[in-house]
Amino acid sequence: MEFAEISSFLETTADKIEACWDIRSLNNIANQRVPDFIMSGRGTLLRADIHILWTQWFIESICNPDIFANSSQGYAYIVKTVQKRVPLIFPGISEDERNKITKYIARLVDKEVQRRKERKRISLSLENRKMLWDIYGTEQRCWICGYKFTTWAENKFLGYTNYQEVPLPQFVDYMRLHGLTERHISVEVDHVVPFSKGGNEEDNLRLACGWCNSHKSDRTSLYDVALKPRILNHTKLGKQSIPHPFWIVRLLSVRRCCEYEGGCDQTVDNAELTVFPRHPEGAMNPTNLRVICSGHDPLGSNRFVSRTIAEQVS
Ligand SMILES: [Zn+2]
Ligand SMILES: [Zn+2]
Repeated sequence: MEFAEISSFLETTADKIEACWDIRSLNNIANQRVPDFIMSGRGTLLRADIHILWTQWFIESICNPDIFANSSQGYAYIVKTVQKRVPLIFPGISEDERNKITKYIARLVDKEVQRRKERKRISLSLENRKMLWDIYGTEQRCWICGYKFTTWAENKFLGYTNYQEVPLPQFVDYMRLHGLTERHISVEVDHVVPFSKGGNEEDNLRLACGWCNSHKSDRTSLYDVALKPRILNHTKLGKQSIPHPFWIVRLLSVRRCCEYEGGCDQTVDNAELTVFPRHPEGAMNPTNLRVICSGHDPLGSNRFVSRTIAEQVS
């Protein structure tokens, strides 16, 4: 990479608070090719998520799934809505192509409608929960972060009433703040792919801890959450910025293994993983976060803070 290329990109795009209200400057920014160093090794996720979001906006701007999710009007009405818009968006194409694209978009909207309907009525029977628990063998972990469920969580999930006191940890990972509430350490059922592709629903279900599941929610893109990191007052390290929990969930669920540069075989299937900042003094956004196992954690014991400190953040 040429230094000229680096500085040209930075000059065009950095510090553009005034420029972001000026269409000519925006033009200039939009026409830049984004160099890889900007992505800090997260190019795949950063680009893929924004492409998916653009497509989602495009599809939903043609026909709003929310309206159909709350109505009795079915697929035929979706087709009708899309049919009206398609000639305006693609004026030059043949009737045959128009029909094809109409069907294609209508199906995408319908899937989204089903997904939004589905969310509201998901409640697994006890029997299904037991089956799901057994599928994961002897060491049940959160499929996202690798947190190993406690016996308390198991008993609660499987409906045994004689479970003892909630084993909330005394110290918590300050980057994730996992373990502050009962929900964080509970077992929940997560839909990996937010909607099933007509196949069998069970393939889509995983056990997740309440922390991961609540922060994942129905989010799918890094860009779904606010950009402002929160601040924690660390006893030894001073004020520390902490990442948005969903960014951690997104990174862990996609990477699924320790990113230690010397190589490591720890994955969320055999260990609980977390994140650390590549540049400790930098903001905790997705380009600065790396997935790490406890053995390679550069933060060491500094990672853990008392509940009191952690509770001041949330
Ligand atoms: Zn988890
Ligand atoms: Zn490791």
